Amino acid sequence: MARPEGRVNGKVAIVTGGASGIGEETAVRLAEEGAAVCVGDIDVVNGQRVVERISDLGGRAKFVRADVSESLEIKNLIDQTEGTFGRLDIIHNNAIWFRHGSAIDLEEADWDKTLNSGLKSSYISAKYGVPTMRKSGGGTIVNTASVHSLVSFETCTAYDAAKAGLLGLTRTLAIDFGPDIRVNAVLPGAILTPLWDNLEVADDEKKRYADLVPAKRLGVGRDVANAVLYLVSDEASFVTGTSLVVDGGLLCRTD
Ligand code: NAD
Repeated sequence: MARPEGRVNGKVAIVTGGASGIGEETAVRLAEEGAAVCVGDIDVVNGQRVVERISDLGGRAKFVRADVSESLEIKNLIDQTEGTFGRLDIIHNNAIWFRHGSAIDLEEADWDKTLNSGLKSSYISAKYGVPTMRKSGGGTIVNTASVHSLVSFETCTAYDAAKAGLLGLTRTLAIDFGPDIRVNAVLPGAILTPLWDNLEVADDEKKRYADLVPAKRLGVGRDVANAVLYLVSDEASFVTGTSLVVDGGLLCRTD
């Protein structure tokens, strides 16, 4: 699989939340294009399954158990990646843990964990990851934000704050660490992943989202993975501090 002409050939990548959904497909996509991938996740069983999936395709991958709401676990993920593969070029900050609730109902502890895993984690991964990436000449970071970064939904108090905050953080990191470190965000719309099963989204609700968008379908993980691949590849060498919406046209709607 690791073709010499791969778009990220010889690079080393971290994908958080890489055991499922968008992160899994991004880990596989980067490996298909020649990167060695470190899958960071709290789900050991599925993390190892993704590593095997990549190995079966002929790629190189490793799993590190990492809870991205814990700073030291992010640092350990970076250290283990460098220790195993000798360098670090790409970080895809993709994992988030979240709970919904209005400001009255949401527990403070759940606000903290959502913001820690979904926003602070990107600051921490830059704090420790940028110096590591600079040892081998620089690198690139992609933060998984969301259409929720731009529009809000009821009871998404902490989630929407985290996702909106990621856009500001993405810009600041790009300013502070350019030109050798590029930082961008990807904003998925309705992407059918195991997250939807966990949220118990009904089939008629899925159909409603598919009918709503100009693309007339729900997204799949690979749709977002392809956008991440573009942003981390040299094809995007003049693209930094910005965001790429991957939503099938959902945000075109005003109704
Ligand atoms: P998913 O549930 O399929 O996968 C999420 C992964 O993150 C899981 O493997 C889970 O174990 C891991 N994870 C959760 N908490 C973690 C933590 N504290 N530390 C490390 N790993 C943790 O979800 P997905 O749909 O692939 O979502 C991935 C990202 O995309 C999330 O940031 C999500 O907000 C964003 N997103 C998803 C959609 C969508 O429709 N699926 C839309 C917009 C944005």
